[in-house]
Amino acid sequence: MRLFAIFGDPVAHSRSPLMHNSVFKHLHVNACYTRVHLQDGSRLKETFFALKLSGANVTVPHKEAAFEACDEVRGFAKKIGVVNTLIHEHGKLIGYNTDADGFLYAIAPFEPINNVLVLGAGGTAKALVRKFMDEGICVSVLNRSQGRLEYFETLGIPTHTWNSMPQQSFDLVVNTTSAGLCDNEYPVPLALLEPLIATCRYCADAIYGKTTPFLALAQQHHKISKDGADMLLGQGVLASSLFLEKQFNNKQIETHMKKSFLL
Ligand code: NDP
Repeated sequence: MRLFAIFGDPVAHSRSPLMHNSVFKHLHVNACYTRVHLQDGSRLKETFFALKLSGANVTVPHKEAAFEACDEVRGFAKKIGVVNTLIHEHGKLIGYNTDADGFLYAIAPFEPINNVLVLGAGGTAKALVRKFMDEGICVSVLNRSQGRLEYFETLGIPTHTWNSMPQQSFDLVVNTTSAGLCDNEYPVPLALLEPLIATCRYCADAIYGKTTPFLALAQQHHKISKDGADMLLGQGVLASSLFLEKQFNNKQIETHMKKSFLL
C-alpha cells in the first residue's frame, strides 16, 4: 500500500486526508493518506523519507521550506519558490505547486476581474500573485510587516504595509493570511479593511471550513464571497493527479474528491 500525508502546523483542521482517501477508495487505489504535525520545517525531507511516503502535501507554514527540501522543483513552483505537493521519484524528492491553479478554478465564476488586492505575503500570496500577473491581472499586496514584501517589490507591483495603504478600490480582495484560521482576528485592522471591502465587488478567503472575521465582514457588506473550499478542491484534484501519475482524468478525480465535502 502506498502512503501519502499532509505536513503542517497546525494540521488537525486539514480536510486533505478525507479528500484524497475518498479518491483512493472510489477509484480502487491501494493507498492511504494521513496527516503529520510537523513543527520544524527543516525536518521535512528526513520525515518524508523516514515515513516511506510516496507523496505529500505541505501546508502552513512549511511551503517555502518544502521548496528548499526538494531535489528537483518542476513547473510553476520553480517560478515562485513555493511547493505544496511532493512526490517521491526514484529516491528523490520532486516539488510542485498546485495552489495557484486551484485558486483560479475557484474564482472562475467571479470573472471578469481586472485588479486584485492580496492580503498577506506568505507562500499562498506568492503563488496567487504570480498567477494573476501571468493572467494579465493588476495585483497589489498588503501585509502586516515589511519583511516578506521585499519579494513582491522585486516583481514591480504595488506593495503596502498597514501604515502605507492608500484608499483604493479593487474588483477582488483575497485573504491569504492565516488570521482567522485559529483565532478571530481580522487580517488587517478593521478601520483599514472595512473601506476596502465596502468598495470591492468580490471577496475570497483561502481559509476554509469556517466563517472567518474577514468573510463575516464581506457578508455584512453583501459582497459575493467564498471561503477556501473550492481552492482546496482545485489544488487537491491537481495534487491527486500527480500522486496517481495521471492514470485518471481530473474530472474523475474531482467527482470522487467532492464526495468528501459531504462528510
Ligand atoms: P504563510 O505562513 O506562508 O504566510 C502567512 C501570512 O499571513 C504572512 O504574510 C503573515 O504576515 C500573515 N499573517 C499571519 N498571521 C496574521 C495575523 N494575525 N494578522 C495579519 N497577518 C497575519 O502561510 P500560507 O501562505 O502557506 O497560508 C496562508 C493561509 O492560506 C492559511 O490559513 C492556509 O490554511 C490557507 N491556505 C488555504 C488553501 C486552500 O486550498 N484553501 C491553500 C493554501 C493555503 P507576516 O509576514 O507579517 O508574518
